[in-house]
Amino acid sequence: MLEGLEGLYQDALAALQKAKSTSEVEQLRVRYLGRNGELTLLVRSLREVPPEERPRVGARLNAVKEALEAEIRTALERVRADEERQALERDRVDVTVPGRRRALGALHPVTQTIEEIVDIFVALGFEVATGPDIEDDYHNFTALNFPPDHPARDMQDTFFVDESYLLRTHTSPVQIRVMESRKPPLRIVVPGATYRHDDDLTHSPMFHQIEGFLVDERVSMADLKGVLTYAMRELFGPETRLRFRASFFPFTEPSAEVDIGCLICGGQGSQCRVCKGSGWLEILGAGMIDPNVFAAVGYDAEKVSGFAFGLGVERVAMLKYQIADIRTFTTNDLRFLRQFV
Ligand SMILES: [Zn+2]
Repeated sequence: MLEGLEGLYQDALAALQKAKSTSEVEQLRVRYLGRNGELTLLVRSLREVPPEERPRVGARLNAVKEALEAEIRTALERVRADEERQALERDRVDVTVPGRRRALGALHPVTQTIEEIVDIFVALGFEVATGPDIEDDYHNFTALNFPPDHPARDMQDTFFVDESYLLRTHTSPVQIRVMESRKPPLRIVVPGATYRHDDDLTHSPMFHQIEGFLVDERVSMADLKGVLTYAMRELFGPETRLRFRASFFPFTEPSAEVDIGCLICGGQGSQCRVCKGSGWLEILGAGMIDPNVFAAVGYDAEKVSGFAFGLGVERVAMLKYQIADIRTFTTNDLRFLRQFV
C-alpha cells in the first residue's frame, strides 16, 4: 500500500507541474483529494491495514495528503499569476498609438454670414423673428402693397404651391406677421430662406435674406441711414462708404437702393470686373415703410413711422469672400466648405 501511495504522490506532483490553468489544477484536486479521489480512497482503506502497521501507514498518508494540499495551493498561485499576466498582455493599451481623429463639422458659410449680420443688429437692440417659408398671397404680396397686376406675382418669378399659397419671395411677410400681432415700438431682424424662379451665376432659386425693420414715433430716413451705415461698416470694415440711390419698392416710400464702395478695387472702378467699373456694389434695398402697409396691419400712419431694409445673404458672402458662383454654396464641395472652418 505504501508503494502505491508513493507512486500516486509522484504522479500527482508531475501532473500539477504541467497544469496550465486554474481549471486543470481544480480537476487534479478532485482527482486526488475529492470525495472519491484516489488519495481519499487510500485513506478510507486504512481500516484494512493490519493494526500493527496502521500508525506508520496512517502517518505517511497524512503527510502525503498535507504535502499534496500544499502543492495544489502553490500550483494555483502559479497558474493564477500566469493567467493574470496573459490577460494583461491581451488587453494591453498602447497609449503611444495616435488616436483616431473625429472629423469636426463647421457652420456653413451662409449660416456664418447670417449669424454675423444678425449679431450686428442684435447689438443695436433688434430682436430676431421668423416666419413660414410657405406663405399666403396676402402676407407675401397684398398686405405689402403689391398691386394685383404686379409682375412679381407672375408665375415667372414666384413658385406657387397652389392658388392661395406660395414659397415666400422675400422675408418681408414676416414684417406683416409681427406687426399684426404686436404694437410699436418694434426693432426686428428676420433671417430666412426665400424662393424665386431664377438660376444663374448670381441667382439661386433658393437664397437667404435678412429683413430688418424699425417702427416707432418720429422715425426718419436719417435713422435708416445711420443704422445701415453702422451695420455695413461693422460688416465690411470701418472705411466702407455708402451711397443711397432713389428706387421703388411697393412696401416702402420713399425707397432707396444702397451701394457700398467696391470691396475689390476700393472704389477705383476703371478695369474692375466686380463693380463693372462703377466703383460701387449694390448691397441692399431699403426705405420708409409705406402708409398702406401700416394700414394693412392696423397701425395709424399719422402716429408711427418706420423704416425697413432687406439684404441678400449669399450676395454679402460672395462679396466678402470673393466667391464668383452662387451655386458653390449648395454643391457641397468640401474643398470649398473647409475654407470657412
Ligand atoms: Zn470694383
